[in-house]
Formats: sequence, C-alpha cells, structure tokens
Amino acid sequence: MTDRYAVIGNPIGFSKSPLIHAMFAQASGQDMEYTAIEGPPGGFAGAVDVFCAVGGKGLNITAPFKLDAFAYATERSERAQLAGAANAMKFDGERVLAENFDGVGLVRDVTHNLGCQLQGKRVLLLGAGGAARGALLPFLAQAPAELVIANRTVARALELQAMGAARANVRGCGYSDLTGQTFDVVFNATSASLRAELPPVPASVFAPGCLAYELAYGKGLTPFLRLAQNAGTRRLADGVGMLVEQAAEAFAWWRGVRPDTRAAIERITIALV
Ligand code: NDP
Repeated sequence: MTDRYAVIGNPIGFSKSPLIHAMFAQASGQDMEYTAIEGPPGGFAGAVDVFCAVGGKGLNITAPFKLDAFAYATERSERAQLAGAANAMKFDGERVLAENFDGVGLVRDVTHNLGCQLQGKRVLLLGAGGAARGALLPFLAQAPAELVIANRTVARALELQAMGAARANVRGCGYSDLTGQTFDVVFNATSASLRAELPPVPASVFAPGCLAYELAYGKGLTPFLRLAQNAGTRRLADGVGMLVEQAAEAFAWWRGVRPDTRAAIERITIALV
C-alpha cells in the first residue's frame, strides 16, 4: 500500500512541499503520496487524528501549527525541544515523534550548497522567533567564533543567549548594540521581509566577503538583501535551499533515504532581483 504523508498549515495553497517531496519520491523510487492539508484554526489535533486514522505515516508542519505539533507529540527531539516547536512528525503505532529540521536544513544549505563554513566565523542572527530558535543548536554545532543574536524584543534575544551560553560564545542584544561590529555571515531570521519591511540593522554589519542570507524565500531581493547589496555584499542567498534541505531531512527520517536536493532547489529558485 502507498504510504501517506502531507504538509499541514493555514494557508497552505502556496506550499512547495508537495512538489519537493514528489520530486524526491520519484528520484529515489519511493512508493508514497504527499498532499497538502489546510488545518482549521484551532483544529490542528483533530486534523492530525483524521490523518492518522486513515494510515498517515508522517507530516510536515508549517505556520501556524508548529507549536501545536510540538504539544501533540509523545516524544520530542532535543532540537524540537530547544525550538519549542516541531516542523516534522512521524507516527509509529501509539508513538508520535516530533522533530525540527529547519536549523539543520539551514546549516546544510549554507555549508554544503553555498560552500560557506561557519566554523571560526563571526555570525549574526537577526530575530529570535521560531526559526532562530531552531537554528541555535545547529549553528553552535558548527563552532562559530561568535554568535550574536539581535532582536527587536531584546528579552527574547537574551533568552536564546541563555539557552546557548553553556555551549559557546553566544550573545543576545538589541539592534542599536550592533553599531561598529562586523560579521562574516548575517542571517535574517525575522519575518520583516514577509511584509517588505527591514529590521533596523546597521548597514555596517556586513564585513568584506560576507554572506547575507534571507530565510524567507520566493521574495526576490528583499529589503534586507538590498541593504546588504548596497553595502557592497556580493554573496546573497534566500531560504529556498533551507526549505528543500529541511524537506530532505524529513524525507530521510521517514524513508531512510536521503534524496539529492539539487533538482528541487533549481526548480523553485527565483532570481534575487
Ligand atoms: P516568528 O513569528 O516566530 O518570529 C518573527 C521574528 O521576526 C521575531 O524575532 C520578531 O521580533 C521579528 N520581527 C518581525 N517583524 C520585524 C520587524 N519589522 N523588524 C524587526 N524584527 C521583526 O517567525 P519565524 O521564526 O517562524 O519565521 C522567521 C522567518 O523565517 C520568516 O521570514 C519565515 O518565512 C522564514 N522561515 C523560512 C523557512 C525556510 O524553510 N526557508 C522555515 C521557517 C521560517 P520580536 O520578537 O520583537 O517580535
């Protein structure tokens, strides 16, 4: 029998996950179907119950249900626990396993696809929401020289600092504290770009040769990427590769086969103009 998987979110019509997983399944010869479910607001658990009742094997979870998925699970990985959110679930009898592959997908895209190692680098992370929390452990595993987390609500940046403090050189701060500092890699993990807004980051943060990485995808040259470009940064990327790599991690977790990601990244990439 064909195994069933899906992505659940609301809205969900824009999701690229069914296309990505269909490409993975075809390329790796896996007998599976992957659909999109529009979960009703406040009705995540009911929608998942129905999916499980018809033999669903696993789900990807997108906004606004990542916290609901974390709560629904019976077992949570360390990455999911640190993020306080899940973006993938696996159903195994009575067990419901929760994972968070956003951060590992991001690191894989940066280090493997873009060829930018984080080890020994000065890394700036803008934002302290779900995506930033998910990135914290995978970033620290790369042993950057320092990791600075700047957020509009400084208390949330300090929370992340506290979570990472035992592991490495991590510092939380506000945007005004960034004046006079430069970084080798700057990640925009705020949701400002979704509204064509710019977080109040000084243009001086981009060191020569810096990589500016926008986690949002499909938006072209966002205000953040434009700021970096105007500051002389030539290495610009958006979150398409992160999206595809986190999908590949989930696929491997479910199916035991890690698919090649190149074709899917090429298929959904939009030029940064
Ligand atoms: P959250 O809602 O959890 O967090 C939003 C963050 O953005 C907070 O830190 C918030 O600050 C900050 N923020 C929002 N607006 C502004 C603004 N105008 N100026 C400065 N800071 C602002 O969102 P997520 O963490 O889930 O998502 C963040 C981004 O990552 C989105 O663009 C999303 O599309 C992208 N993403 C990409 C993925 C991929 O696969 N490529 C996967 C997951 C996310 P405060 O705390 O002060 O409110």
